[in-house]
Amino acid sequence: MNSGNTTRHRTKFTVRIECDDGKRRKKEVNIPTFEYLEIGDRVRYLPKFPQPFEKYDKRKDGEVLCMFCSRRNPLTETACAFCHKPLIK
Ligand SMILES: [Zn+2]
Repeated sequence: MNSGNTTRHRTKFTVRIECDDGKRRKKEVNIPTFEYLEIGDRVRYLPKFPQPFEKYDKRKDGEVLCMFCSRRNPLTETACAFCHKPLIK
């Protein structure tokens, strides 16, 4: 239930999550999150964060999206360069 595959919808900035329980849920996302997530990405949904999607496989991007301010940081960093909160990896 806390993970699934994403499908992107360009018009409304929503992603459709197919959860491990087989149910599909639509989530509205901000633009940086929308641009970060790609179809078929395996994500973890962490609703306690402002930006609640964490990709399982971040290596192909080489970047991690801050869970707090939704900005991209290099995968080598441990804290966000913009809001200085820890990066979830
Ligand atoms: Zn940040």
